[in-house]
Amino acid sequence: MKLVDSHCHLFFDEIYQKLDEKLRLAKLADVRYLLSVSTDLGTIEKNLEISSKYKGICCSVGVHPLHSEDDNSDGDHIASVMLGFIEHDKVVAIGEVGLDYHYDDAPSKSKQITVFEEMLSFSRDVDLPYIFHARECFPDIFDIISRSNVKSGVFHCYTGSIEDAKRIIDKGFYISFSGVITFSKSHELREIAKYVPADRVLIETDCPYLTPVPYRGKPNEPAYVSLVAECLAKTREVSVEEIAEITTTNFFNLFPKARFLLEESDEK
Ligand SMILES: [Zn+2]
Ligand SMILES: [Zn+2]
Repeated sequence: MKLVDSHCHLFFDEIYQKLDEKLRLAKLADVRYLLSVSTDLGTIEKNLEISSKYKGICCSVGVHPLHSEDDNSDGDHIASVMLGFIEHDKVVAIGEVGLDYHYDDAPSKSKQITVFEEMLSFSRDVDLPYIFHARECFPDIFDIISRSNVKSGVFHCYTGSIEDAKRIIDKGFYISFSGVITFSKSHELREIAKYVPADRVLIETDCPYLTPVPYRGKPNEPAYVSLVAECLAKTREVSVEEIAEITTTNFFNLFPKARFLLEESDEK
């Protein structure tokens, strides 16, 4: 069985300081491929360093909506810097980008929208899929994506409604589930996880956040994507091997540039 953690943040101290150990545990849990997602300019550099050093790891470039007020997060500067990064072999996606209206002290909606639109605009002619961070921001995010030239992407760590999930799927996008589906209160989310077509579903940890049951309270890590896979298997009443098969296949369909990882891991 080969699992993929389609969305993790290996650069945060909780993981980075013990990276060898965390990757060893991930491998023991059958996690073979990882996409370490950037959240701002500094994390892109760290992600490139990590993914260049280890096999089985790729990364993305983007500015997270909650970083949209950072000094270096908007304007022509960031666009030119990002364009410099996307040619790198290990960069397989644009993200995470999007909108997050959950927090009162977050950057304003208009600021987030400006940066999100800049992210979509600099990458318009780049042939890479998007990783969308969307929290309590429908329909704004969907209107912006629909107006732009986005061809492929995933709504990561999905926690929205079934109606929004249907719109996402109808548009041809993927939906990724995190440890949140293992929480006891997530009945509605598990119903959505049952509904998403087999060729559109992905799994992730979003580590070090959103640790699945039974490790809530501890930092999350890539190995725990196996717990997300197990929960999804139970929810959809299929084997965990089948979940591994479909989510890993979907990952490489969505992120074709990541296919070099398949060869890397064969070398091991
Ligand atoms: Zn996110
Ligand atoms: Zn994330």
